[in-house]
Amino acid sequence: MTGEKKVRVRFAPSPTGFLHVGGSRTALFNWLYARRQGGTYILRIEDTDTERSKPEYLDEILDSHKWLGMDWDELYRQSKRVELYRHKAQELIAAGKAYRSVEREPAEQPEQGKRSGRHKKVEPGGDSVDAEGESVEAVYFRMPDIPLFFYDMIHDKIEFDASLIEDFVILRSNGVATYNFACVVDDINMNITHVIRGDDHISNTPRQLALYRAFEVKPPKFVHMPLTMGTDGKRLSKRHGATAITDYRKMGFLPEGLLNFLALLGWSPGGNKEIMQVEEMVASFSIKRMKSTSTVFDRDKLNWINGEHIKRADTSRVVELLLPFLEERQLAGEVDRLRIARTVELFRGRFDTLVMFCERADYVFTDNYEVESEAVREHLCGEDTKKNLLKLAERLESLAEFDVNTIEPVMRDLAGELGIKAAKLIHPARVAMTGRSVSPGIFEVMELVGPDACVRRLRRAGADGRNVEEP
Ligand code: GLU
Repeated sequence: MTGEKKVRVRFAPSPTGFLHVGGSRTALFNWLYARRQGGTYILRIEDTDTERSKPEYLDEILDSHKWLGMDWDELYRQSKRVELYRHKAQELIAAGKAYRSVEREPAEQPEQGKRSGRHKKVEPGGDSVDAEGESVEAVYFRMPDIPLFFYDMIHDKIEFDASLIEDFVILRSNGVATYNFACVVDDINMNITHVIRGDDHISNTPRQLALYRAFEVKPPKFVHMPLTMGTDGKRLSKRHGATAITDYRKMGFLPEGLLNFLALLGWSPGGNKEIMQVEEMVASFSIKRMKSTSTVFDRDKLNWINGEHIKRADTSRVVELLLPFLEERQLAGEVDRLRIARTVELFRGRFDTLVMFCERADYVFTDNYEVESEAVREHLCGEDTKKNLLKLAERLESLAEFDVNTIEPVMRDLAGELGIKAAKLIHPARVAMTGRSVSPGIFEVMELVGPDACVRRLRRAGADGRNVEEP
């Protein structure tokens, strides 16, 4: 790294909405690069639009960062830097690179790409105050006729036709800096070395390059990441389901699962490696291996990756993460961490999200579990079956020790005595106990459910089927 500047990157969200998948992916790549390079990760809140910026969105951006484990080194809010932007605009005016002029309505500003090809300048002058005496003058940047191009670290050379770009507002008549201006002033002021952002910002880059030139500062390196699309090939939006990071948290994803998934939406460590812990991602991250084509947001893949992380996570951690989910569903009872831990171990590999755990293992914690009517129809309807379940309840009730080692022989012996295959007792018992035809090992399940609930459920199913609606 001799002679190289210390890496300083920034993630610059506008707090005008929740932090979504696209934004957090941008944040992650900036963060990974900073951590990989031993650099600085800056969180810059672009809240100059005071009408649309909301404090709750800022809180959510910070909370999502904390939850994902992406720590920041410096935090700035553009709304607190207004003076700097005014000062810098003044500097450009003094140098003849910007001028005051009546601000045109956005509708009057020709759409980009629909120009005559000649430089249309906004002429200085006009009435500088409105009827109320308020200033209506904005500061316009004088767009120079210079070759505009840069070498993007993903897209390579990108060129623009400067003659298509008009003079543009850098400071509105109300004194608020526009995005392009505040962005460049800050990137210079914060010594940003790499701008890593979505490629929807490529169109902003020529104006920003011209501003760097005006300030006589070498631009940072640009890394424009291709966007992430929905599986339908359209830009990711609410139509594709939840997009806010908070929603994924509520759906029971683990931060490391989501981070792993987000990382693969734009980068790959190579060698088909997909499941990675955050430390591994940091250790192997490089801009060179970032993807140059758009990626697809595939929910099934997210579920799979998260499931893989759950499989690898410490049981005690999964238990702590599960508690609020169980509590919300009134499944936690008098919190018994050991019991939850044993359930997690028994169900490992059978759930991809914490919510899925609550749905699949509900019967361990409550008698009010979901019942599959198909399972009841198939396994619980015969009169003989019901009688057998009642006998089983009786035998289990008299057990002094209630665990896998005592339950299994009782069931096998009873089946033998009744002259039926063990499966003919096991399947109905499973449905009586869980409401499903599929579950982890039934003897383990019964041990976890405990003697009282087991006997109660077998009697309910065997006697009048109260908990299992007869189809
Ligand atoms: N506030 C801009 C955004 O949210 C930042 C763009 C940039 O990184 O330059 O898209």
